[in-house]
Amino acid sequence: MTLIDKPDCTRLTMSTDLRRRDVLRQLGALGISGTIGQLYSGSLFAGPGKAATGLNRLVAGEVINREDDRYEAWRNSMVWHLRKPDRYPDTIIRAQSEQDVIAAVKYATDNGLKVSARSSGHNATGAALRDGGVLIDLALLRDVEIDAGQKTARIQPALWSEQLVREAGKHGLAFPAAHCPTVALGGYLLGGGAGWNHAHWGSVACYSIKSADIILAGGRKITASPDSYPDLFWALRGAGPGFFGVVTGMELQLYHLPQAIHTSMYISPLDNLQTVVDSLDDLNSVKDERVEILVLLMHNPQPPEDTNQAKTCMVGVNAFADTEEEAKTMLAPFANSGLAAASVFRLEYQPATFATLYNPENVDSGIGRYAVDNVWTDNPSQALLSLVEHFRTTPSTRTHVLCSYGVKPELRADACFSRIANHYVASYLLWNDAEADRTNLTWLKRANDLLEPYSKGTYINEIEATLFPERIKSSFSEESWKHLAELRKKYDPDNVFHSWLSYT
Ligand SMILES: Cc1cc2nc3c(=O)[nH]c(=O)nc-3n(C[C@H](O)[C@H](O)[C@H](O)COP(=O)(O)OP(=O)(O)OC[C@H]3O[C@@H](n4cnc5c(N)ncnc54)[C@H](O)[C@@H]3O)c2cc1C
Repeated sequence: MTLIDKPDCTRLTMSTDLRRRDVLRQLGALGISGTIGQLYSGSLFAGPGKAATGLNRLVAGEVINREDDRYEAWRNSMVWHLRKPDRYPDTIIRAQSEQDVIAAVKYATDNGLKVSARSSGHNATGAALRDGGVLIDLALLRDVEIDAGQKTARIQPALWSEQLVREAGKHGLAFPAAHCPTVALGGYLLGGGAGWNHAHWGSVACYSIKSADIILAGGRKITASPDSYPDLFWALRGAGPGFFGVVTGMELQLYHLPQAIHTSMYISPLDNLQTVVDSLDDLNSVKDERVEILVLLMHNPQPPEDTNQAKTCMVGVNAFADTEEEAKTMLAPFANSGLAAASVFRLEYQPATFATLYNPENVDSGIGRYAVDNVWTDNPSQALLSLVEHFRTTPSTRTHVLCSYGVKPELRADACFSRIANHYVASYLLWNDAEADRTNLTWLKRANDLLEPYSKGTYINEIEATLFPERIKSSFSEESWKHLAELRKKYDPDNVFHSWLSYT
């Protein structure tokens, strides 16, 4: 039984169910879905710097210095995938409370130490791991409180996407959280946030931050909102790993939970990509805003003998509707399109909930060595087509390319998030062996080069900032970039907080 099977396979049967799970497993393996960080031992490079030896007395959470036997295991656990950066903070503290964060930032400021923060460690470049200074791990700060009347949530930064969605769902509410269950809201929202149904729920997710508690240099706590520190509120919404403070809490706008989510899936051989993108161009121009289209160039988990089908294009369509009838109406144009006709496997009108969309049984651990880069584009068809031949040469079968079609572009004066086009294309590389790092990263560089003619800028949360530092700046407009630098000078004049990777 192969994944690519009959063209008329439209109903869920035992065998299609198995094949669907194979696909979902593959997606998990590809890192589309949830993964939980693993410990992995590497070697120490630089010698220890100035440890924050006095911190033990000031914070309730654990403090791990370089001399500690547990240091390397802790350091490695700060990044969820296995390609750990060779960067070594002098001290890692696992904050138990906001008070710990205040104490740690104050201590670092007073003692001339630099500070970085980490929520769930999903940043592909391990941005939170920096050389020297204090790394504040916020993983234990994961509370959530829903105010159903106000349709808001108060969250702590390390709350996972799936946890927020689950809690909000109990009150008939929802949030455009990340597609992967374990991505924390902290880093996700600071960089923008392109999650479930976000085109409908306020564009990028950071626009749904109503206020945030921030610990600034010196350990000063402020609350940023449209009425209080509006300049910091602006920076908070999009600065990503270049933010100059630690976010300890946020108030978020929630949305009505769709009562009838339905999904359809179409798989075609890569050779059919032209037909697929032609069809999607048409469908995208008429689709309901609540329809999310995700296109994946991926490797067939069970390649048939016909090697033509070893690389495939999968289109997932999610309709966030309120009745079954409405969902069917939203998905029908896809079922009647050239996309469906070109597919060799399809599974349509499947009822779903956020619990099934995030279902851990449908994904594998996905752990591997990882890299990602992306572009925003107004020309997704040409962008995807430009990658076809290159995709055939991926060094790892776990690698995939994702295109998020038709995200609603909206730029706002009250947020520094400043690069968005109508569509998003990202290359996600996952591989197993360190010896293959160079080959895979060379593949990524070539993919970036091929996409460049179609690029309208990059998304700060998913760039390979270590190898290609110029992509940090290309995530911002000239004005936003300049204004962020002014605000950094104003709020962190002594550079207590690390700036973006590759910047001091
Ligand atoms: C499997 C997977 C799935 C993903 N899915 C999506 C998706 O669907 N949509 C999407 O938009 N993105 C997605 N991402 C990307 C994700 O948004 C970024 O990797 C984001 O940086 C992760 O947040 P984090 O809190 O884990 O960051 P961390 O790795 O913990 O931190 C990264 C940096 O963010 C800053 N930071 C984090 N928390 C704080 C804080 N509380 N205060 C101050 N600074 C902080 C720091 O500068 C830190 O260096 C995904 C990533 C992975 C690995």
